[in-house]
Amino acid sequence: MKKRENFLVFGSPVIEEDEIAAVCDTLRSKWIGTGPKVSEFEKRFREYIGIEYSAALNSCTAGLHLALVALDLPAGSEVITTPMTFCATANAIIHSGCVPVFCDVDPVSRNLTAEKIKEKITPRTKAIVPVHFAGYPCDMVEIMKIAKENNLYVVEDCAHAIESTINGKHVGTFGDIGCFSFYVTKNLMTGEGGMIVTKNPKLEAKIKVLALHGMSKDAWKRFGDEGYKHYQVIYPGFKYNMMDIQAALGLIQLGKVERFRSKRVELWKIFKNEFKNLSCRLPSDHDGHAYHLFCLEVDSEKMKGKTRDQVLLEYQKLNIGVGVHYQALHLQPFYESKYGYSKGMFPNAENIGTNTISIPFSPALTDKDIEDVILATKEIFQ
Ligand SMILES: *Cc1c(COP(=O)(O)O)cnc(C)c1O
Repeated sequence: MKKRENFLVFGSPVIEEDEIAAVCDTLRSKWIGTGPKVSEFEKRFREYIGIEYSAALNSCTAGLHLALVALDLPAGSEVITTPMTFCATANAIIHSGCVPVFCDVDPVSRNLTAEKIKEKITPRTKAIVPVHFAGYPCDMVEIMKIAKENNLYVVEDCAHAIESTINGKHVGTFGDIGCFSFYVTKNLMTGEGGMIVTKNPKLEAKIKVLALHGMSKDAWKRFGDEGYKHYQVIYPGFKYNMMDIQAALGLIQLGKVERFRSKRVELWKIFKNEFKNLSCRLPSDHDGHAYHLFCLEVDSEKMKGKTRDQVLLEYQKLNIGVGVHYQALHLQPFYESKYGYSKGMFPNAENIGTNTISIPFSPALTDKDIEDVILATKEIFQ
């Protein structure tokens, strides 16, 4: 295949005229910061997910952090999570004063399983943070069972999993708090942005206060037309609030989320069919999958020793952007040196980390882009 003329950006978002108009309307309204659009987006998002409470934030990372802070875990508590995730998951655990305890994943789903979690529980364990990898739902029924038996909180990292369901019920509604991401590459984007959802009104209220400097409820209204209200600082909070500009984008994108998913489902079927005889492992299907990423697993033995890193370069040389989800997190220098993790501890995650590659899989891809990705993949993995 010939090198593409322009670089195909991995995970580029769909931005149409109505997103552009919504942002312009917000700018013209002059209410740009946290305001009525954020409230509306929170309401529409919790209706979509099917849960009672929600708080919009400036990222999913902020959501994970505030979720763990709001749960008020004793300093040094152990929180079990997966090494098959973005570093934000583990960093949020650390910033809440806890210790991330990694646990190996299932080699097919790339998710934590109740069985593997159980082996890591100690008297200091206080919470579990499962990640629904690529939108493949974790077995939350079994994970919640283990959590209840051991008196553990559960914070679900749903960054990949806006549309993921288990028996028709959205992920994020099983644990105590669910955290969603609206980063540019995610299934719904607001530029930067995130949302927590919960069934617990006290957790929602506390997270909203923590997200705006720890100032008492609805402090953003102090500049509104209801008369000046003094606020009180009740926690040493953070600056994690979402802006109306972001919420304006989110409201439009939420209306398209199922259309985007259908487009990815269609692409998933095309890729699986086109690639079925290539020297790589294809991702597995599951009911309620959000189909966020399309990850291939390189089989070096079948490719005369060609490594994943060589494959990455080959795509880049053809002007096709690719991703790695993820290098096993426990082997990153900080966690290795601080917590004593090393190679060999989590073989499934390490094997995925060495061999995985994510190819472009966004609903923004044109027919020509898709054709290029298919041609390149067939050439690289023949
Ligand atoms: C993207 C991502 C996050 C962080 O989301 P932000 O909104 O960028 O903070 C956390 N966890 C996982 C698994 C992610 O993919």
